Amino acid sequence: MALIVQKFGGTSVATPERIKSLANRVNRFKKQGHQIVVVVSAMSGETNRLIALANEITTTPSLRELDVIISTGEQVSIGMTALALQELGLKAKSYTGSQVKILTDASNGKARIIDIDGQSMKKDIDNGYVVVVAGFQGCDADGNITTLGRGGSDTTGVALAAALGADECQIYTDVDGVYTTDPRVVPEARRLDRITFEEMLELASQGSKVLQTRSVEFAGKYKVKLRVLSSFEEEGNGTLITFEEDSKDDNMEQPLISGIAFNRDEAKIMVLGVPDTPGIAYQILGPIADANIDVDIIIQNQGAKTTDFTFTVHKNEMKKALEILNTKVQPDIHAREIIGDDNIAKVSAVGVGMRSHVGVASQMFRTLSEEGINIQMISTSEIKVAVVIEEKYMELAVRALHKAFELEEA
Ligand code: ASP
Ligand code: MG
Repeated sequence: MALIVQKFGGTSVATPERIKSLANRVNRFKKQGHQIVVVVSAMSGETNRLIALANEITTTPSLRELDVIISTGEQVSIGMTALALQELGLKAKSYTGSQVKILTDASNGKARIIDIDGQSMKKDIDNGYVVVVAGFQGCDADGNITTLGRGGSDTTGVALAAALGADECQIYTDVDGVYTTDPRVVPEARRLDRITFEEMLELASQGSKVLQTRSVEFAGKYKVKLRVLSSFEEEGNGTLITFEEDSKDDNMEQPLISGIAFNRDEAKIMVLGVPDTPGIAYQILGPIADANIDVDIIIQNQGAKTTDFTFTVHKNEMKKALEILNTKVQPDIHAREIIGDDNIAKVSAVGVGMRSHVGVASQMFRTLSEEGINIQMISTSEIKVAVVIEEKYMELAVRALHKAFELEEA
């Protein structure tokens, strides 16, 4: 008997029929003698619908109230799923985030989980219930409803698996695993049987939409065994996310590059011609961080007397970042120019094989130059090379790199 957390995304609960088939799948696992905790997202499209609804009152809603509104999507799903399980004769009980006592910090809209109590939920599991938990939500120390950021149900699943010491966390989604890149862009993309946490983390943070970044971080930190599977197929082992040490045991040749990720959600901000003095980076980026705006790539270029700063933020936050720079920062730093550009995309090659091989970056730059694609920014880590390019070349770049690194179906 194993304790398994099964997380189902929006497409798996999109209609009452899908919810019934989800329940059948859970029933099969239950019949094999496993204890099951189900985590569900809102019915597909529902979170977007709720955000649009709030926007009809105001386009700048208070984040507390927005969370009250958008957390209802998952509440509908847990009730529906529990009903479907009960119809099959199973004991099932729904739990909202606050009923589980998923304690988060108070950052509405992107709250982080601090602690999971789960006492009463555990009792129910021991008494044979399938417990159905609302993904994406928790509550802060004052009892306010919070949400974990888009795609946050993945994190709920992993966090619950960690808190319960589950044997495996299965993420059911509309793809049957993790691919070398998005098959919608490159039809020859290949499903990976396994991938390391670090690679998955890079892929997720570089724009692969399969898993929420935070959920992968969580799984790596708490050593949760994570598997991505299709919610539409009965068979198949999906993609197992493992630790580098474990995958080495297999004695398999590590591929140089595991995947190509891309992301068109970022915007570039250039702060040009600022004095090259100690503290300038902090003066520019401090207020951005204080406003809780995430910064991804940062590049500083030293000139003769002045320096240029370029960094990327989420597209949705470009306006806010520019406003902060122009009103709060510019009076002190007197930059020659501050420019925002949201017409960019980031393309990354990811692979642990890079640690022991040279030449990945140069191969990447050669491929892009052969396609006539100009590189605006470059950022590297031990297992990743990322470039920022003009958005219209993104798909071309992904296809060319996927081919150059020989990632196609054999
Ligand atoms: N329903 C939320 C969203 O669409 C959370 C999730 O699906 O994971 O972002
Ligand atoms: Mg999702």
